[in-house]
Amino acid sequence: MSSALGIYQDDVFKMACEQFRVIADYLEIDENHRERLMLPKRAIAVTLPVHMDDGSTKTFQGYRVQHHLTLGPTKGGTRFAPDLSMGETAALAMWMSWKCALNGLPYGGAKGGIACDPTKLSRSELEAVSRRYMQEMIPFVGPHTDIMGPDMGTNEQVMAWFMDTYSVYQGYAVSEIVTGKPVSIGGTEGRRESTGRGVVYLVERAMDLLKMDPTECTAIIQGFGNVGSVAALSLALKTGIKVVGISDATTAVYNPKGIDVKAAEQHVLKKGHLRAFDQGDRIDPNEMLVQKCDVLAPCAVDRVITEKNAAKLQCRILAEGANGPTTPEADKILDQRWTEVFVIPDILCNAGGVIVSYFEWVQGLQAFSWSETEVTDKLFRILEHSFSQVIRRAKAHKISHRMSAMATGVERVMKAKRTRGLFP
Ligand code: NAD
Repeated sequence: MSSALGIYQDDVFKMACEQFRVIADYLEIDENHRERLMLPKRAIAVTLPVHMDDGSTKTFQGYRVQHHLTLGPTKGGTRFAPDLSMGETAALAMWMSWKCALNGLPYGGAKGGIACDPTKLSRSELEAVSRRYMQEMIPFVGPHTDIMGPDMGTNEQVMAWFMDTYSVYQGYAVSEIVTGKPVSIGGTEGRRESTGRGVVYLVERAMDLLKMDPTECTAIIQGFGNVGSVAALSLALKTGIKVVGISDATTAVYNPKGIDVKAAEQHVLKKGHLRAFDQGDRIDPNEMLVQKCDVLAPCAVDRVITEKNAAKLQCRILAEGANGPTTPEADKILDQRWTEVFVIPDILCNAGGVIVSYFEWVQGLQAFSWSETEVTDKLFRILEHSFSQVIRRAKAHKISHRMSAMATGVERVMKAKRTRGLFP
């Protein structure tokens, strides 16, 4: 490994590299091409001075990593989280590359964000931090170079501030610079729900294959933000699965009789979190993950399925709504348990978000809008294709679903790089 790893030093980046190494061995990729495929094309770090409400000036650190430019512009979310680092951002950008390639999207992966706790900022501070971040990024992003979207800790409003800041500097409205923005300023119908909806579509497909009856099944969902809450609502209301466990950063609630997910959503809309939601027993958040259920959907942070709990999981389907929820050590254990636990790997499971972001970008470039039904139909068509490919390759080569999904993504980027040459 070259010394370039230095600026990306981070456990999550090491994990993404380890996953890549396993795939590179499986695909027998020449050593000469491995680093070029794995390391980001470029990375930007910015310091963001912001006037706080109390009159003080605080500086925040912002990052953006563009993984490769071989297949088109880069695309990726923006994360606001206290311990965000360049390494974690690079890992997330790398996963985005494999995800976009697996799903046939004309993008390289990117990711960015700010090391900050958005829950501790007032609305005006959040706006100032968001606008300053986009202002610093203007030389490095654009509708044909790098398109931002939401991720943990950011939402439609933050995307609107990004879009407005970029547009003010250009002198005209550039809605295609971000996705996940409100429909009122060029966002697409169905983007907010897209990731959670995709998770549930794939859970239903897995249940078809495994001949499971959703109305007799239970689910546990970690994380009750954009992805987790939409997935929980859709599982409960659309498929009839009983949701028995939900959690967020403040608490975990467990009720074997079933949780009224709509009531949980209303509680979070009012209070901002699940704390004090009283429809069930409090449970240790780690214990919740190993309770008996048919579907376990981690939809929050990375590295929550580890070598410590992988052998204890009691779910039939592991639906990875979050990015990087399973460590490579846990993967080895899950590989051995493949007849017991059906894994829907993250780059497939949560791809709904970037797929509908792609639709939003296309609609923006064409100044044309599609209905929600059109968006959802097209989303499911792409997910169906990717799901079938992943399952087919896994069966044919006797490899795990993750290996199959990642290999398909890496292979496409590798072929494109080989065809284009050394530049991109
Ligand atoms: P979000 O900020 O809307 O919600 C995150 C949720 O996780 C919140 O409920 C938060 O309280 C909870 N949480 C944080 N730390 C937790 C912990 N330790 N234990 C339990 N819950 C915890 O974020 P989101 O957009 O829903 O993203 C969630 C995950 O899905 C991330 O890994 C993200 O990268 C991934 N993802 C999101 C999208 C998208 O479209 N938003 C697309 C693909 C992947």
